[in-house]
Amino acid sequence: MMRTHRGGELRAEHEGTDVVVCGWVANRRDHGGVIFFDLRDSGGVVQVVVDPVRPGLDLGHRVRGEWVLRVQGTVRPRPEGTVNVDMPTGAIEVAADAIEVLSESEPVPFPLDDRTEVDENLRLRHRYLDLRRDPMQRNLRLRASVNRAVRAAMDEQGFCEVETPMLIASTPEGARDFVVPSRLKPGHFYALPQSPQLFKQLLMVGGFDRYYQLARCLRDEDLRADRQFEFIQLDLEMSFADQDDVLDAVTRAVVAAAAAARPGEEVGTVPRITWHDAMERYGSDKPDIRFGMELVDLTDALAATEFRAFHGVDAVKGIRVAGAGDASRSTVDGLVDRAKQLGAAGLVWMRVRDVDGRIDVESPVAKFLADDERAAIVATLQAEPGDLVLIAAGPRRATCQILGQLRLDLGRPPVSEGLAFCWVVDFPLFEALGDDGRPIPAHHPFTMPHPDDLDRIDTDPLSVRSQAYDLVLNGWELGSGSVRIHRPDVQQRIFSLLGIEPEEAHAKFGFLLDAFRFGAPPHAGFAFGLDRIVAIFAGEENIREVIAFPKTQSGGDPLTGAPSVVGPQQLVELGLRVLPPKT
Ligand code: ASP
Repeated sequence: MMRTHRGGELRAEHEGTDVVVCGWVANRRDHGGVIFFDLRDSGGVVQVVVDPVRPGLDLGHRVRGEWVLRVQGTVRPRPEGTVNVDMPTGAIEVAADAIEVLSESEPVPFPLDDRTEVDENLRLRHRYLDLRRDPMQRNLRLRASVNRAVRAAMDEQGFCEVETPMLIASTPEGARDFVVPSRLKPGHFYALPQSPQLFKQLLMVGGFDRYYQLARCLRDEDLRADRQFEFIQLDLEMSFADQDDVLDAVTRAVVAAAAAARPGEEVGTVPRITWHDAMERYGSDKPDIRFGMELVDLTDALAATEFRAFHGVDAVKGIRVAGAGDASRSTVDGLVDRAKQLGAAGLVWMRVRDVDGRIDVESPVAKFLADDERAAIVATLQAEPGDLVLIAAGPRRATCQILGQLRLDLGRPPVSEGLAFCWVVDFPLFEALGDDGRPIPAHHPFTMPHPDDLDRIDTDPLSVRSQAYDLVLNGWELGSGSVRIHRPDVQQRIFSLLGIEPEEAHAKFGFLLDAFRFGAPPHAGFAFGLDRIVAIFAGEENIREVIAFPKTQSGGDPLTGAPSVVGPQQLVELGLRVLPPKT
C-alpha cells in the first residue's frame, strides 16, 4: 500500500498511530536541529517533523518545496504552545521515521499559497500548479459536489441520463457555431453543439419522457467573466409536461445543489415574476432580488406636470436610495454622468428633507415642480427625510433599464452574498424587429407562443408573450427554457414569420419537422449553466475560477497553446487551404 492516510485528514484522534502519508512539500523550515515541513495532499496539510541526525533522515536537508514525498512516521500531539488552532491538523504532527523522495521539483514559478495574487496568464500556463492551491482545490471539489447533487435530484425525479453527439449539424441558439471539417467528406463540416436542443426534442418523440444530461455546449461568442466558449449545462426535457412541471423539476435540482454547496443556507420557495414586472420593478430581465430599491412608476403622478423633462414622456420612473440624502455633490454628479453614459437624457436627483415638520425635497429642479407634484413624488416613492431620490424619464424600456443599472451600482451586494433564486416567466416571444422588419426570436424558434396572445402574432408580434422562462440567481441569468412547439403547422407559421423559407427550414431542421409528423408529445424543457451556479456558490465573480482548464479572455489556452496551426498534410487531408490573415 502506497499510503495509509491522507495527511491532511489526520486529527488528534490519530495520536499514536503509525501512518504512511504522501504529498507535496508546501513549506519547509529548518530550525537548526530539526526540520519541519508541511506536507500537502488532497485532504489538506499536515506538519512533518524530521530529525536529520537519525539514520536515513539526513535527506531532510535536501528536500525542497513541491518535492513529492512518502513519509512513514507516528502521529503525535504537538508540544505545548505550538498547537495551531487555525489549522484542521494543528493539534498534531507526524514524527518521521523514514522519508522517500518520489519526485523532485524545480523551483515553482509562483507561490502556491492562497494569499499571493498571481497573474492569471501565469496561473493558466501552469494550471497544474495552480490547481494545487487551496482555492482551486476547494472550487473544483465544490463543483463535483454540485454535479453529484444535481444528478441525484434528477435521478430521484425519474429523469433518464442520455448523451447526445458532439459532431452534429447546426443547432440554433443565436450564437456562432464552432465547426469541424470532415475528412471523409471534404468541403463539409460538422457543427459542435450550441446545446442538445434538437436532440432532446427528438428524444421526446423517441419516448424518453424525462431526459437530462450534464451537457457540454460550445458557442463561438466573445468571452467575458461569466462566459466561456465551452460550458456545461444541466440540460433537461420533459414530455406531457407544462411550464409548472419544468419549473418544479428544475427548482428541486437547484435547491439540492444549493444544499450541497452551501449547507445551512435556506433557499426557501423560489418566487416567480413576469418579464414585464421584472422590467418595471428592477429594470432588468435578470433581477437581483436580494435587495429592495425597486423602481417606482411616477408617470401618472406627474401626468399634468409642466416641467419639460417629465412632460409628455413615455415613462417617468424613480428609485429611493434610503439614507443617501447626504451624498456629496460630486457623488450625485457622478450618478448623473453614469445615467448619461447609459443613454439617459438626464437624471433628476432630490434630497428628501424635513422642512418645518413637513417632508419636502431639495433639488436643482424643485422650483419647476408644483408643490403637489413634489409631494406626489415623495408619497409614491415612500421617501423619508434623509433619503436621496433619483428620477429618469423617457422611452419606457430604456428608462427602466437605466434606473435598473443605477440600482445595481448603488445597492448590489457581492455576488456570493445570500442565495436569491427567482423565475422570470412570460418572456416576449420576439426580442425586436430586425432590419428586414422580421421579428427576431427572444429564445429559439421552437418556443411556444403564449396561448392568449396567438391571435396577435401577425398583427402585433412584439406584444406576443412566449411560454419561455429564465432562472436567475443573485442577478445572474443561470439558464432558460420553454414549452416547445410540437405541432408542425404552428412551427411552420413561426418559421414563416421569422422569414425562414420552407426549403431553408427543411434543410436546417427537416429531421425535427419530420419527426413531429410521427406523433410528437407536448414537451417543455430547460437548461442552466453549471459553471455560473458553481461560481456563485463559490463566491467567485469569474467562472474561470471554477473551471479546471479555462480559456483566457482572448480565447486562448496558455497551457497547451490552443488554438494552433495545423500542418500542411492535415490540411490536404481535410481539403482545406488557409487564407493569409486579413489585414
Ligand atoms: N437549449 C436552450 C439553451 O441552451 C435551453 C432550452 O430551451 O432548453 O439555452
